[in-house]
Amino acid sequence: MKTVNKIYINGEFVTPNGTETLDLINPSNNQKIGEITLADEVDTRNAITAAKEAFKTFSKSTVDERISYLEKLKTAVENKKQELIDVMIEEYGGSKQFVTLSNNNTNSWFDSMIESIRNFEFEQTINSSKVLLQPVGVVGIITPWNASNSSVCSKVATAIAAGCTVVIKPSEMSGLQTQVLMDAFHDAGLPKGIINFVTGLGNVVGTELTINPTVSKISFTGSTAVGKLIAKTAVDTMKRVTLELGGKSPNIILDDANLEEVIPTAIFGAYMNSGQACIAPTRLLVPENQIDKVNEIAKATAEKVVVGLPQNDTTNLGPMVSVKQFERVQNYIKIGLEEGAVVLAGGEGKPEGLEAGNFVKPTIFTNVNNKMRIAQEEIFGPVLSIIPYETEEEAIEIANDTPYGLAAYISSSDVERAQKVASQIDAGRVCINGFKHDPMVPFGGFKQSGIGREYGVYGLEAYLEPKAVLQ
Ligand code: NAD
Repeated sequence: MKTVNKIYINGEFVTPNGTETLDLINPSNNQKIGEITLADEVDTRNAITAAKEAFKTFSKSTVDERISYLEKLKTAVENKKQELIDVMIEEYGGSKQFVTLSNNNTNSWFDSMIESIRNFEFEQTINSSKVLLQPVGVVGIITPWNASNSSVCSKVATAIAAGCTVVIKPSEMSGLQTQVLMDAFHDAGLPKGIINFVTGLGNVVGTELTINPTVSKISFTGSTAVGKLIAKTAVDTMKRVTLELGGKSPNIILDDANLEEVIPTAIFGAYMNSGQACIAPTRLLVPENQIDKVNEIAKATAEKVVVGLPQNDTTNLGPMVSVKQFERVQNYIKIGLEEGAVVLAGGEGKPEGLEAGNFVKPTIFTNVNNKMRIAQEEIFGPVLSIIPYETEEEAIEIANDTPYGLAAYISSSDVERAQKVASQIDAGRVCINGFKHDPMVPFGGFKQSGIGREYGVYGLEAYLEPKAVLQ
């Protein structure tokens, strides 16, 4: 049984003032694997005070000092890579394939920030005036369970690059990952108070961070519903907010694409992290006159998807993170059936032999109308909707017809044609012909997928306050 009963404030591991505990459950079998002691408002205020004190010195640090801290953090997290992979498999059921890939990218969060600040002009000149780009202050970082490690690392890297100090509130469902990250960041040996961790409930620790006047900015990744709540609360103290929220990303297959190649990629993409990914392409838009062929390939591909224990090398799909998430996904499958969508693969219930965990059958609905709830709402599970379109214009219209705008995908044998389509899509990130990762290019959402951008120089600027000095 694992016990997470420390938080990290001012360079020390301390026992939380909060005494409430939360069980950590292995989603592969719903057995208790540990317990986490939840921090409270007092702990949060202590962490904010430490971050405020550290900001006095850290905000004046040089670019070289910050680069050396980023290097230390990178090495420290790299040293914990295997531990992180192990706990991510155990704690949220991420497949070994996916969490290994995700941890292989961790260095890139630190490298991209080192690259971004190396030649960044923190002091600029406009006419005869100076514009100083100064760190915004103490930043509250609030992250979800599904991308805890990468969210924490990318946000911390950006804050350090900018000269901000942080109080991190990871998801209460990521207790084991948080323990490993706290150890790693402590090992990095930065001056005390720059990085603080307070793990607790959203409506306790998260709320305190959002209302506390000493916190200058909230960087949040999570659901659109909580993002809206945070934005409303943060406005009282006029905090800067960056919100990375949900998605319902379209994947447009243009009529010149090679279906044998792109459809299997599209299916495995929709099932990334067992479908529990904000950027998952969950709406597959295909030419109506090719739908029979698409259905045939999609069904054959879904049948090859391996659902199983996340620690197995061959597993593509692990369990849903919790019973609640499993039930949510099952409910959406039921809704799809009631709405008249046709099940091509999967459907309700658990796969045979995996009844003890929160496993979902890889599911594909075809002949989906984009007005259906399964096409409009974020399901956050391995459920894909195939939606036919007649013309390219209609494909673009359908792609843009949801409240979200996080990511989009286009497949075509003509890249110029795909670029023209990309320019008409309402999404913060459009990938042409496959899934791409580049931590230097901006990431964030149009519409209800968020406010602001992360990564690279765009992300850095969101942690800086421009000050004009006219002389
Ligand atoms: P969630 O919104 O339930 O929780 C996210 C974080 O917010 C957690 O740490 C939670 O404790 C905290 N929180 C909850 N209530 C709060 C409150 N009132 N005040 C302050 N903080 C509060 O999301 P989740 O279920 O952990 O994660 C899944 C969601 O995150 C999905 O919607 C997914 O699309 C989204 N997500 C977005 C991105 C992105 O980059 N756009 C990345 C990963 C996940």
